[in-house]
Amino acid sequence: MTTPAPATTPTPHGLPMVVPAAGLPPRVRIHEVGPRDGLQNEKTVVPVAVKAEFIRRLVAAGLTTVEATSFVHPSWVPQLADAEQLMPLLDGVPAELPVLVPNQRGLARALALGARRIAVFASATESFARANLNRSVDEALAMFAPVVEEARAAGGTVRGYLSMCFGDPWEGAVPVDQVVRVGRRLIDMGCSELSLGDTIGVATPGHVRELLTALNAAGVPTEALAVHFHDTYGQALANTLAALQHGVTTVDASAGGLGGCPYAKSATGNLATEDLVWMLHGLGVETGVDLGRLVATSVWLADHLGRPSPSRTVRALAGTTSHQEQ
Ligand code: MG
Repeated sequence: MTTPAPATTPTPHGLPMVVPAAGLPPRVRIHEVGPRDGLQNEKTVVPVAVKAEFIRRLVAAGLTTVEATSFVHPSWVPQLADAEQLMPLLDGVPAELPVLVPNQRGLARALALGARRIAVFASATESFARANLNRSVDEALAMFAPVVEEARAAGGTVRGYLSMCFGDPWEGAVPVDQVVRVGRRLIDMGCSELSLGDTIGVATPGHVRELLTALNAAGVPTEALAVHFHDTYGQALANTLAALQHGVTTVDASAGGLGGCPYAKSATGNLATEDLVWMLHGLGVETGVDLGRLVATSVWLADHLGRPSPSRTVRALAGTTSHQEQ
C-alpha cells in the first residue's frame, strides 16, 4: 500500500491559512508592474493583443492599478514599442492604468492617448542616473520637473519612481540621506507618490525601516510612499512586511515574477504578485485579488513566453486552481 501524495497546499482551494498579525494595515493596494517593468525586462517581445489580454485578465483578477506600458523611445525598449497600439485596446478597462514617461515628448504621446496616471523614473545615485538616463541626478530631475507640471496641468497625477534606494552596483551602499534628498525633490515638484525601488534587491528589513523613518522625518508622509522590492537575495517579502509594519499600504509587484526570469540574463528579480498575495492573505490583509485567477493568468502568459514563471506561488499552485484558463 502506498501513501497518497500530499496536497501542495494545506487548504483545499489553493489559498493560505489565514492567521492575522497585529500592527498591519487592513488593506493593501497592489501596484501591478508586470506589463511594464516585467515585460520590458523579458527577452521575448509579446504581441500587442496578448498584452491587452494580459492586462484585462489582471484587472479581472482584482488588481485595481496596472502599469500598462512605457512611452520611452521605441529603440530604448523595443519590448514596449507598441504603446500607441496598446492604449486604444484598453479602452473601458475598469482600473487605473498608469504609464511611464521619460520626458515631455513621451508625456505628450501619453496624454494624446488619454493617459492621466503618469510615472517618471528617477535615480537616487549618480552612477545609475548616468547609466540609465545618461544624465546626472540633477539633470534628470530638471528633465522631470516640466513633465510633472504638464501632467498635473492636464488633470493627471504623477508617481515618482526612485531607483537604487538601498544599494547601487557601482557605488555600493547608498546613504539614506541621499535617498531622502532626491525623494523629497520628487515630492516637492508635485509627485503624489514615491515608489522606493530596491533595484538590485540588496535591502534588508532594518534598512527599510531606517529609510521610511528618515523620509517621514523629512516631511514625506507614509501615505505618499510605496515600496518596490526585488527578490534577488530572497529578501523581498521580509522587506515588504517591514514596510507594512511601518504603515505603508501600497506595494509594487509583478505578476508571475515577470522581469525576474532566472533563465534570462536580464533577470531583475521583481517580487512576484502571487507570492505577495499569498503572504498578505495569510496575514488577513485584504487586496481584492483572486489568487486563483491571478495564478491562471501568469500560467497563461508563461506559455506565451515559452518558459515557466519564476514565482514560487505560481509554481506551487499551477494546475491546482479552479480558475485554470487556457
Ligand atoms: Mg522592478
